[in-house]
Amino acid sequence: MKKLNRRAFSVLLIAAFIVMGLCTYITRYLRDGESWASYFSRLNSLSEGTVTDRNGVLLASFNANDNHYNEDRNTRIANYHVTGDFWNRTGTGILTNFARQLHGYNPVTGMTQTKRISLKLNVDTVLNNKAYAALAGRKGAVGVVNYRTGELICMVSSPAIDPVESDPVAPEGVYINRLLSASFTPGSIFKLVTAAAAIECVPTIWQRSFFCEGEKEISGVLFHCPFEHYTNDFRGALANSCNIAFAQIAISVGQTEMVNHVRAYGFLDSHSLDGIPTAAGSYPLDFVGDPETAWSGIGQSTDLICPYSMLRFVAAIANDGVLVEPKLIDDGQPAEHSLLVNPDTAGIMQELMRNNVIQTYGDNRFPGLEVCGKTGTAEVGDGTDHAWFTGFLKDPDHPYAFIVFVEQGGGGLSVATPIANTVLQAAMRRGTDMEY
Ligand SMILES: [Zn+2]
Repeated sequence: MKKLNRRAFSVLLIAAFIVMGLCTYITRYLRDGESWASYFSRLNSLSEGTVTDRNGVLLASFNANDNHYNEDRNTRIANYHVTGDFWNRTGTGILTNFARQLHGYNPVTGMTQTKRISLKLNVDTVLNNKAYAALAGRKGAVGVVNYRTGELICMVSSPAIDPVESDPVAPEGVYINRLLSASFTPGSIFKLVTAAAAIECVPTIWQRSFFCEGEKEISGVLFHCPFEHYTNDFRGALANSCNIAFAQIAISVGQTEMVNHVRAYGFLDSHSLDGIPTAAGSYPLDFVGDPETAWSGIGQSTDLICPYSMLRFVAAIANDGVLVEPKLIDDGQPAEHSLLVNPDTAGIMQELMRNNVIQTYGDNRFPGLEVCGKTGTAEVGDGTDHAWFTGFLKDPDHPYAFIVFVEQGGGGLSVATPIANTVLQAAMRRGTDMEY
């Protein structure tokens, strides 16, 4: 009996090892099978793929023997966070996220296709090069989307590396795509959210007047403005980016409705750019009281915003409230549409954002363009500021929404608006015979 028990135990033990081994194999097959298959298929000359921009410019290609990128080093670097690399060092790269499609890999059969597979992107390498050059080595990001079609025509994150280098001198944070994969203190661009909430939740907002002498105690806390704005109405408060006005506006909206709007506009969620996940943001959700609600309404407090979420929001405002979901890949399929902003609110926001440029920033910063926007200078807490500028062109032939972010870059107006102008001017000239 004893012997039999011992034998049965041994058999069970062996069976357990087999099951464990099988589980490990299946897990690793599901996780790594694609790279095993692509590795062996490439050795056997079976798999070929190319990635091009919207105009057919080669970004990356591979076949059995070789990997290739664009011939121009500046183009490779400027487009690094779009392309990624064959080592999967940056999470948002096409070569990483679309390896399965590019290899034609089928997880059921474990086979890869032999035909050449091409992925055409919506980005324009010329715009990306312009945007990357304009960031001039600073940490930051630029995104431009056609708000009517959803085509993401510009996606740049800086700094970047040359993907051909196996062991590059990589500055800190170089592999993070700052447009998609991180969240930052928004500062005054967040007043767009507070303004939209106020339009819907504060019926007296158009009759209100806000007096600013540069500082004011609100709910027991002293708020500062960089300038004395004196009497602001709601429109003027946004154009002046008056903290003292917007602290009071946020309190009038109230934390509950602020949270409702922040959530409804998608700032708390991770989104999917053709399957590439973006960073979620944060906003005070637990009760914080009036002073902190005021801080959060002016884009400080614990507010964190993914630049991509703000790009979606302004794109929806520009498109009368309807968000055409951005697409990085031109797969011939129409983009998804959803109502992100109440159309009446969107119309009012368009007018307010146009007024910001006319009244405060100056149309002369954007020659020949009809820009609607909002700047932001976000205090980071260590004495530095993030520079932001977001908005859109009111131009049916060039329906572009944009966001420019320079991490610890300084003032939004002085630092971020010239970058936006450079990229938008280039975008205007694309598709024409003019030089760019
Ligand atoms: Zn003020």
